[in-house]
Amino acid sequence: MLRAVLELVLMLVVAQSIRRVLGGVMQGLGGAGGDSGPGRSAPGQGVAMVRDPVCGTFIVPDRAEILNDGGRRSYFCSTACRDVELRRRGRAPVSPGAPGAGSPRTEPSRR
Ligand SMILES: [Zn+2]
Repeated sequence: MLRAVLELVLMLVVAQSIRRVLGGVMQGLGGAGGDSGPGRSAPGQGVAMVRDPVCGTFIVPDRAEILNDGGRRSYFCSTACRDVELRRRGRAPVSPGAPGAGSPRTEPSRR
């Protein structure tokens, strides 16, 4: 009698573990296993990616356009984005025909 109960419990435990394994396999097959695996946004290999503050693209610092501004370093995916940031900071690069370059007296944005 007692042995039968023990066997029943054992069967239940085994059935549960089998279910768990099957569930894991199903999740793996479904391809929805996004939770497992740390850092899926980073392509990995230990390379620290930097973010272009203008367009939000992640880039490898080695291939980025670097802007050094008073010790603060910013990375950009292209010179175009770097120019946009320069213009944002009020340091427009010398580009002919660019509107809004200069005139520091009338600044609409004050902090
Ligand atoms: Zn960019």
